[in-house]
Amino acid sequence: MTNANEPTAAGAPADPHSGATDFIRDIVAADAQTGKWGRPITTRFPPEPNGYLHIGHAKSICLNFGIARQFGGVCNLRMDDTNPAKEEVEYVESIIQDVRWLIDGWADSVLAPQVYYASDYFEKLYQYAIELIRMGRAYVCDLTAEQLIEYRGAPDRPGKPSPYRDRGVEENLNLFARMRAGEFPDGARTLRAKIDIGSPNIHMRDPAIYRIRRVDHHRTGSQWTIYPMYDYAHCLSDSIEGITHSICTLEFEVHRPLYEWILAQLQVPQPPPRQIEFARLNLGYTVMSKRKLLQLVDEGLVGGWDDPRMPTVAGLRRRGVPPAAIRTFCARIGVTKYEGLTDIALLEHSIREDLNRRARRVMAVLRPLKMVLVNYPEGQVEEIEAVNNPEDPSAGTRRVPFSRELFIERDDFMEHPPKDFYRLAPGREVRLRYAGVIRCEEAVKNAAGEVVELRCTMDPGSRAGGPTSHRKVKATMHWVSAAHALPAEVRLYDRLFTVPEPDADPQGRDFKTFLNPHSLELLTDCRVEPSLAGASPETYYQFERLGYFCADSRDCQPGKLVFNRTVTLRDSWAKAAAKAM
Ligand code: ATP
Ligand code: MG
Repeated sequence: MTNANEPTAAGAPADPHSGATDFIRDIVAADAQTGKWGRPITTRFPPEPNGYLHIGHAKSICLNFGIARQFGGVCNLRMDDTNPAKEEVEYVESIIQDVRWLIDGWADSVLAPQVYYASDYFEKLYQYAIELIRMGRAYVCDLTAEQLIEYRGAPDRPGKPSPYRDRGVEENLNLFARMRAGEFPDGARTLRAKIDIGSPNIHMRDPAIYRIRRVDHHRTGSQWTIYPMYDYAHCLSDSIEGITHSICTLEFEVHRPLYEWILAQLQVPQPPPRQIEFARLNLGYTVMSKRKLLQLVDEGLVGGWDDPRMPTVAGLRRRGVPPAAIRTFCARIGVTKYEGLTDIALLEHSIREDLNRRARRVMAVLRPLKMVLVNYPEGQVEEIEAVNNPEDPSAGTRRVPFSRELFIERDDFMEHPPKDFYRLAPGREVRLRYAGVIRCEEAVKNAAGEVVELRCTMDPGSRAGGPTSHRKVKATMHWVSAAHALPAEVRLYDRLFTVPEPDADPQGRDFKTFLNPHSLELLTDCRVEPSLAGASPETYYQFERLGYFCADSRDCQPGKLVFNRTVTLRDSWAKAAAKAM
């Protein structure tokens, strides 16, 4: 269901910042030509620290930092921390970490060394408000929140003026100072911009720009009892920081007249920043609102913000997604004005493509079945040379122990195979990766009738360099040496939801109704080759024939290996969908 308007060109550049073009870059390029700001192009990424960053934010990060990089400018990371109720230091720290991780290689060239905080501007914003009051462009209003909504009207219903609209300047100054001094209860009064109560745009109908809230702020503590509203704080923060292009998502298009109005009233540096809107990323089979992600965390439906099933940057990192794969994905979806739903298969494709180039190939057995090579000498161990990455010769080789007793994948054997099963069965032959052709002579069963061991013979001539090394068999299987393999836990992840749009159910059911009960499968009895003993997070592996994996950053330790499956080798959902048709 990819939006036809979103370019998905397979040939999109791997580095989204070199030579990318889109309507925003066109605008910036034209503005840069005029040199009208007299300073380098300056963008900003302004998250509210009320949750962890998600893949939608990654789109905005790639765009804002990418433009700064392309035009030799800078991009400010600004905490939009003007709403103390939901903001926390933990979020601030995770945001800084995630942004740096995502733009790793070029952070130093475009990311201003300091982090900016809108809360640092509280005093300046207050002074600007006083300026507005003095000019007769703002007034203190005593209407309650409900009354405000009622008076404001709706797009199809006219607004009506507040009875306090014509308060005198002195009275407004006095009341506003007392609002700041904490004389009035929460919600008792607001400061409103005096614009146009008859405007067809309800955002222009005398919007509130300050409200009273006795909530401690994570940075300013109890210093303030009034806080600026988003629309007021945002344009002025942009102006204070010398932002040239303020790039935001489409829902802010209707707020743009207010953004421009505020900057037009005040004595601010000219020209003011220019707001440009683009379509947000909506990704299938997940949800992206921080409020909903927080619900999943709070209700224990996932293991935390960095649960590898979460669409958060922290979750993707822990799952084993390289930052470059996310950047490539963001380049592929492009930047447009059209809202659409991006197919998650496109993200998965970008991840596979990236990992195929970078992942080290290793052997791991997820559901072990013992195999004894009865004609292989007891006690003998060979160190077989194996290629680390056929896509990257510089990755070199490693030695993998091979011996008489091995583990193979339980699924690779069937006692009574159907026609289209080409792997191991009694009397059948397959090749063992890096070794020779083996034949299953006997399946040993326990009292319950379950196959617990395979007794096989190996054709010694079929090994590398041997006279029958080119023998054709239908399957090649991976294995580990039983005595040398390390135990490991493996977590198989799948999509978090079973439907493409969990938060847009036609019947209005809650998004949590559609959680995928099989999004995590825990395998506790796996065996991996010994080279994985020191596996560290953010080293990317391909478990041959199984998929891409990485060590879990929270739980993997020497002596207790834990791996996450990042993505399968192929898209099994597409296959399932094709079958269902
Ligand atoms: P949420 O609804 O998830 O809370 P938000 O827009 O309130 O998201 P902010 O912290 O305000 O989150 O977002 C910071 C920046 O990231 C904003 O400029 C916003 O436009 C951008 N952004 C947020 N979500 C997306 C998305 N899905 N696609 C592209 N950009 C996004
Ligand atoms: Mg927001």
